[in-house]
Amino acid sequence: MTLTQTNLKEQILVSNGFFGPYGGCYVPEVLLPGLMEIAAAFEDVKTDEAFLAGFHQTLREFSGRPTPFTPLSRLTAHLGGARLFLKNEGLNHTGAHKINHCIGQAMLAKQLGKRRVIAETGAGQHGYATAAVCARLGLDCTVYMGRKDYERQRPNVYWMELLGARVVAVEDGSQTLNDAVIAAFKDWVEHPSDTYYLLGSAVGPHPYPAMNTFFQKIVGEEIRRQSISQNGRLPDVCVACVGGGSNAMGMFFDFLDEATVRLIGVEAGGRGVKPGDHAAKLLHGHAGIFEGYHSYFLQDGDGNIAATHSVSAGLDYCGVSPVLAWLADTGRVEFTVASDAEALDAVQLLARMEGIIPALESAHAFAHAFKIATELPPEAVVAVNASGRGEKDLFITMRHFQEESLRKYAVNLLQ
Ligand SMILES: *Cc1c(COP(=O)(O)O)cnc(C)c1O
Repeated sequence: MTLTQTNLKEQILVSNGFFGPYGGCYVPEVLLPGLMEIAAAFEDVKTDEAFLAGFHQTLREFSGRPTPFTPLSRLTAHLGGARLFLKNEGLNHTGAHKINHCIGQAMLAKQLGKRRVIAETGAGQHGYATAAVCARLGLDCTVYMGRKDYERQRPNVYWMELLGARVVAVEDGSQTLNDAVIAAFKDWVEHPSDTYYLLGSAVGPHPYPAMNTFFQKIVGEEIRRQSISQNGRLPDVCVACVGGGSNAMGMFFDFLDEATVRLIGVEAGGRGVKPGDHAAKLLHGHAGIFEGYHSYFLQDGDGNIAATHSVSAGLDYCGVSPVLAWLADTGRVEFTVASDAEALDAVQLLARMEGIIPALESAHAFAHAFKIATELPPEAVVAVNASGRGEKDLFITMRHFQEESLRKYAVNLLQ
């Protein structure tokens, strides 16, 4: 099936998992029945009013939706140009947008009669949200983490365990996210009938990219209502950071067929453009197949997965949603990067001017929005997705700003 530029929303949700050449379901035969079972259940719940009513009720009562759409008045006056607005996904339960697709998938697992959920996590944020939702719904939860991530993300490991999850440190390979994915797949092959694999972004084999987009699209739907009631118009520009792509798809989806709304995804520019120094798949990656799906990946000259770097753990991943890969090729979504340093500056500026500390991931979107706002007319509305709140980044931001103030202090002493 070829996808055209009109009616994009419809095409993504009925795509059978292909978005142009991207997406698909490239997995070992043993995983196919499980994925087909989930795909069939997703087909059903998309239009199942009782399921959707329960989903929205849980978003309201458990996660605290709708999240606010906050005018950034002081920043707008400070920068000049377009009016800036912040969609505060950081006010969700567990601190980020991830809970939206965790609730949707855990409810689907229950509907399928599964009693056990497995997940993998790198930084621990997805594991934390998954563990919370499983506790709430009474599902047994096992989270796989590379041994290195397990050691460096102790606070999140502790929260997951307090929530009743079993956290397994994976000793294989490089002991990071990709090894945790392999371990989770292995577990799923061994427990096909009672286990649901809860995936953490709009990536992976069909149906996860379309399904997680579906559970996240509430973000853009709320922005549409809020922008119309607060400003009398749709946003002119929507800006979101891109790791795997779930918060970006959540924000963009409802506006895909609105030709007047510019959509901009911001990838992790890290320390620079050298391989291993960034995590910008759409800008610097190549098409390939990995972890069950066809998309853009950061690869070395031999087609092996390359190392990635970002100051924000949530953007530090080698692949990207096949939906975004297709929307990049067709030009519907524009992509750019913000560096580690620009993201950290954006955290500080937003904190000082508006009293909001964003997650380092989200700060990439803010860094770019601050740049373009000055070039736009004052009636323009620029919406930025604050995918998460900044508390989890305490040690990274503290180290950075303390080093910076020490440096400034030293320079002052020398003058
Ligand atoms: C995980 C995470 C991201 C990156 O994931 P996407 O699927 O690209 O949204 C971004 N922001 C926050 C706060 C996260 O926790």
